[in-house]
Amino acid sequence: MRSVSRFMPGERIEDALAAASQLHHEGIGAILTHLGENLTTPDEADEVTRHYLGVLERASAAGIGAHISIKLTQLGLDLDPELCRRNLQRLVERGGELNTLVWIDMENARYVDQTLALFRHMRERSPWVGIALQAYLYRTEGDLESLLPLGAALRLVKGAYLEAPDVAYPRKSDVDDNYFRLAVRILGEHDRAGGMLHIATHDSALVDRLGAEIEARRIPPSYYEFAMLYGIQKTLQRRLVSAGQRVRVLISYGADWFPWYMRRLAERPANVWFVVRQAFN
Ligand SMILES: Cc1cc2nc3c(=O)[nH]c(=O)nc-3n(C[C@H](O)[C@H](O)[C@H](O)COP(=O)(O)OP(=O)(O)OC[C@H]3O[C@@H](n4cnc5c(N)ncnc54)[C@H](O)[C@@H]3O)c2cc1C
Repeated sequence: MRSVSRFMPGERIEDALAAASQLHHEGIGAILTHLGENLTTPDEADEVTRHYLGVLERASAAGIGAHISIKLTQLGLDLDPELCRRNLQRLVERGGELNTLVWIDMENARYVDQTLALFRHMRERSPWVGIALQAYLYRTEGDLESLLPLGAALRLVKGAYLEAPDVAYPRKSDVDDNYFRLAVRILGEHDRAGGMLHIATHDSALVDRLGAEIEARRIPPSYYEFAMLYGIQKTLQRRLVSAGQRVRVLISYGADWFPWYMRRLAERPANVWFVVRQAFN
């Protein structure tokens, strides 16, 4: 489908690596993620893990400093948490050998406890692992306080799933306010060894507000990066790069793009019109 190509360079890892190389030339870093939803067998989880081990090798060989980002459900979390832990460990260990950060995505609210527990377990063994935190969840403020002492790589996002009002702020303005508060809290920890923040949002107002905080507090550039999705807010990405900021783009690839694509559309109903227009072209 042509409209999907706006958000992903292609279904194959080669497409993602080519896009990452192009971005590298433009001064933008990359994070590679293979699209896939929940699995049904341990063999599938093993296949995903082996795929990512290959991605780590290829990204490292390309010399573009790309990170990878994984979903624990793709490594077998629903099937067997111990299997998932072993798969994650294989990736984080190999990532460490290749100086490549392995990010753990945050999925539905019901996975948060297990995801944080596996992250903590892995962080005690390696600095080459990072975790996403969702500003729409009430619990994130408390989770953050328990993670900060670890000196962790944290990716702050608003949150992409449809959550109930008893676990997540229903109002966008509250999510935005919480995002700002949490980001400022993390920035305040910039002296802590091993810590870093990915400001993962396309919200230009938030980006500007946080940019002003960063300047006022003289946060070292090594402590944070702006992160966005491939194909979204390209002008903002370039503006930040021109201003000397570090920007990284998450590139998705894979055949299983449909549920992921639907979430991108739900985030911004205007995209639906884009699809409709494409469908008639
Ligand atoms: C690097 C990265 C990693 C992520 N990892 C996770 C994760 O692990 N778990 C998770 O739950 N979520 C994750 N997300 C998704 C995130 O939670 C949000 O759903 C998504 O980023 C949209 O929120 P926003 O912060 O951009 O703000 P919004 O307020 O939704 O958007 C701000 C502005 O950005 C633009 N914009 C936003 N989305 C789109 C779009 N789809 N198409 C075109 N323009 C758009 C629009 O101009 C919009 O006004 C990730 C996002 C990024 C960038």
